[in-house]
Amino acid sequence: MLTQTEYLALAAQIDFPTNAFINGTYTPAISGETFATINPATGQVLAQISACDSKDVDVAVAKARQAFEAGVWSKKHPTQRKQVMIKFIKLIKRNAAQLAVMEALESGKPIKDCETIDVPETIDCIQWHAEAIDKIYDQISPSGDAAMGLIQREPIGVVACVLPWNFPMLMAAWKLGPALASGNSVILKPAEQTSMTCLRLAQLAHQAGVPAGVINVLPGMGETCGKSLGLHSDIDAVSFTGSTEVGRLFLQYSAQSNLKRVVLECGGKNPCIVLDDAERLDEVAEHVVNAVFWNMGENCSSNSRLIVHSAIKDQLLEKVIEKARDWITGDPMDPSNALGAMISQEHFAKVVSYIEGAKQQGAKLILGGKQIKLKGELAQGLFIEPTIFDEVTSNMSIAQEEVFGPVLSVMTVNSAAQAVALANDTCYGLHASVFTSNGRRAMNVAKAIKAGTVSINCYSEGDMATPFGGFKQSGFGGRDNSLQAHDQYTETKTIWLDLSTESDSELD
Ligand code: NAD
Repeated sequence: MLTQTEYLALAAQIDFPTNAFINGTYTPAISGETFATINPATGQVLAQISACDSKDVDVAVAKARQAFEAGVWSKKHPTQRKQVMIKFIKLIKRNAAQLAVMEALESGKPIKDCETIDVPETIDCIQWHAEAIDKIYDQISPSGDAAMGLIQREPIGVVACVLPWNFPMLMAAWKLGPALASGNSVILKPAEQTSMTCLRLAQLAHQAGVPAGVINVLPGMGETCGKSLGLHSDIDAVSFTGSTEVGRLFLQYSAQSNLKRVVLECGGKNPCIVLDDAERLDEVAEHVVNAVFWNMGENCSSNSRLIVHSAIKDQLLEKVIEKARDWITGDPMDPSNALGAMISQEHFAKVVSYIEGAKQQGAKLILGGKQIKLKGELAQGLFIEPTIFDEVTSNMSIAQEEVFGPVLSVMTVNSAAQAVALANDTCYGLHASVFTSNGRRAMNVAKAIKAGTVSINCYSEGDMATPFGGFKQSGFGGRDNSLQAHDQYTETKTIWLDLSTESDSELD
């Protein structure tokens, strides 16, 4: 890790990528339109980014299709694809500090997280899928001696990946890793708040040997660029990560166009259940705080509801409040800070309105609740105190809706059954944590919770080898991570070969 001064010096030297990346080169939007990308910690404009629309989408899709049909990547031997992706990883490593700085500047995430989590996990993800490429086997069906049924996977074709702003680089990697490994041509559409690291990743991939047209990045607005991708009839699949509200639109776009495959990774209102027999409450409190406040709560799997047994509630809450005070909010470029700025003025106002709404609906504020005003260059920054509400009931908005900010809702129960019922009482089902010292109870609770991932006695999303995605309105159609992610980017083909013979002489 560098010092704050060194990070700022590095930031001053970076030549920010601002144009779309199409067919192996940076190129302005055809319309010439741009939009400002803003540092949410200072309010300063970092750069003007090309605002792509349907015309740019048409060009990128045509180039991506051309590359796919030419077979320059899709028909490369798997081992060769792997070698290029390994070189891509080396280039990411070489540019790690620069990528971390761009990520922190544009998203308001703390530089410490960008350096120690976002960049290493991006590398880990691409490496995991690269190494899998030449170890995936197809199948032969049990079809008897008279026929042979080959069940093969093929790359699906041209894939659009529509991304959120909360983990800009890592979410790009979650899509790029399996999509490139499977041999597709990819068009990435970063969220309009955070375009730069995605643009740089594409250039590094191309530099590593991913052929022109195979990886493209179209920055732009959701309602123009994102919608055009969703409706384009020559895109074979969309992998979307973002809000449930926008995810729904992609199903409509698909129905209105070419029935392209759609996978949605959406929001969550994730519970953290702490039962009366949970041990080592100091450690539990650390997990609770990390689960809700990490990344300023701008995390789809943020455990924003603490469902705690009345027998240990007071003891646990005291520890949670104490640990939360250690999470210092401040300049994202200062590596000693654990929390940075909220992404945008609009999102900041939304989080503040949830805090005010919770007070009006009768929740009891026990920590934080206010905007943090910093000085100097950070005076316009969008900082919110880690906030905890007690006495939250399930009819309140903060118990049901995804706040996507540093706000914890505490709900009290008297049994495991009551905890499970509350945990399942939302339209979401992405993630949950459960803390108990009884293994059988832990497994039974984990099985009863309707969520894609349940972590026991820790807060964790699993790792690259475990599928990640949501039940209910948290997701649709597939999973990110693990080999299951490859299913999003491949079609299954059956090839049926007749082997029937008239006589033994055919064996000659
Ligand atoms: P968002 O839905 O507002 O935007 C996501 C993407 O969709 C952006 O690229 C945006 O430009 C695009 N978009 C917006 N409107 C569009 C439209 N009308 N048509 C087409 N595209 C459009 O989400 P966000 O605010 O960027 O991200 C936060 C959300 O992402 C949260 O709900 C969070 O839970 C979710 N998320 C989920 C996961 C997961 O793995 N399940 C991971 C990270 C974030």
